[in-house]
Amino acid sequence: MKEETKIIQNILSDPLTGAISTPIYQTSTYVQKSPGVHKGFDYTRTNNPTRKILEQLISKMEYGFSGIAFSSGLAAIDAVLKLLKSKEEIIAVDDIYGGTFRTMKLYNKFGIITKFIDTTESNNAITNITKKTKLIWLETPTNPTLKISDIKEISKRSKKINKNILIVVDNTFASPVIQNPIKLGADIVIHSATKYLSGHSDVLSGLVIVKDQNIYEELKYIQNSTGGVLSPFDSWLTIRGIQTLYLRVKKQSKNAFKISNYLNDKKRKLGIDKIYYPGLYYHKNHDIALKQQKYFGSIISFSLIKDTEEMARKVVTSTKLFKLAESLGGTKSLICNPSTMTHKSIPFDIRIKSGIQSSLIRLSVGIENVEDLIEDISQALIMII
Ligand SMILES: *Cc1c(COP(=O)(O)O)cnc(C)c1O
Repeated sequence: MKEETKIIQNILSDPLTGAISTPIYQTSTYVQKSPGVHKGFDYTRTNNPTRKILEQLISKMEYGFSGIAFSSGLAAIDAVLKLLKSKEEIIAVDDIYGGTFRTMKLYNKFGIITKFIDTTESNNAITNITKKTKLIWLETPTNPTLKISDIKEISKRSKKINKNILIVVDNTFASPVIQNPIKLGADIVIHSATKYLSGHSDVLSGLVIVKDQNIYEELKYIQNSTGGVLSPFDSWLTIRGIQTLYLRVKKQSKNAFKISNYLNDKKRKLGIDKIYYPGLYYHKNHDIALKQQKYFGSIISFSLIKDTEEMARKVVTSTKLFKLAESLGGTKSLICNPSTMTHKSIPFDIRIKSGIQSSLIRLSVGIENVEDLIEDISQALIMII
C-alpha cells in the first residue's frame, strides 16, 4: 500500500461497536471484573482506547515500535529529556525550537548539559561527542531558517563511536509525509502534533515514536509517573486531523514552492534581503533536502533589506490573508516575526549567530489559493519600500 492509503487503513475502527469514526472514550476509570482483571484498561492516565488508536496510527506512520501521545509537544520533549541521568550530555542543533531550548536550559539545574552546535555540518555533531553524550537532538528542517541536518549520516557515524547514543529527531517541521527519521537511523521521533498532524490550529498535542521496546517501556513509565497525557477528546481531534495530512502537506508544499520562487524573482523590488527555503537551489542545504525529503515543506522565512523589527512589524501587520500568529502547519496561512515572537527567549547573540535577524519574517503557508497568497504578501511588502 502507498502511504496515503496506509494512513487511512491504519485508523482502526472501534473493536467493540464497529464505529468507523474513533469513539471518544471520555472516561477516567474502567470497571474491573475482579481486582486487576480488566480489558487492558484500568485508569486513563495509563491507557485510554481513543489515545491508543492514535498511538498505533502514528507508530505505523513513522515505522516505530510504538507511539506515545502527550498533552503537548513540549510534554513529549520533557519526557524524552527525562531519559537522561545527571552528568549526561546532549548535543543539539543550535537553531532549535525556542521552547525546547528553554526546557533544555531548565535541565541544567539537574546537571544535564546541552551543547548547541550547527549540525548541518555532520562533522560538528560527531566531533563534539564525548563519553558523556547520551542524546543527539536534531530538528530538521529547523525553525525559522530551515537548516537541514543529514539524519542518516549523523546516525551512522555517531553509532560507530558509541552505539548507545540515541538519535532524537523533532520531526514537527517535516511531518511524516516528508520524511521518516526512524528509516534513516533515528531512535526517537517527536512531533508537536499541534502543527501539521492535527493541522487545524485547534489542539495542543505531542507524540513520541520509538524504535526500540526498552526505550518505549522507559518512556511509558516516565509518562505514567508524571502525567502529561493527551486527553481523549484531543486524541480524537489529532486522529481526525491526520486523515487529511497528505492532502494538506502536499498542497501547502506546492503553494510554498511557488511563493518562494515568486519572492526570489522579485527580491529587490520587494525589499527582501535573504530568503530561506530548502526548495531554492541556492539554499545552503538544498542538496540534503533533495535527498532526504519528499517535499520542501511549507515554511518560508525571509529578511528585509531594512533590517529592523519595526520594518518587520509593518509587514506582518499589513497582510490580510496571512494572519499574524505564532505556530504553523495549519490550514490557514500565518505570518510572524520570530525575534519578537517565537524566538524572543533565545539570547540575542545566539539568535543572530543562527541567522535570526531582527527583520526576519516567517510564513506558514496554508491551503488557500496560491495567487491570492502571493498578492497578499506582495502588497504588504510594497508598502514598506
Ligand atoms: C511547536 C513546536 C514544539 C512544541 O510543541 P507544543 O505542542 O507547542 O508544546 C516543539 N518543536 C517544534 C519544532 C515546534 O514547532
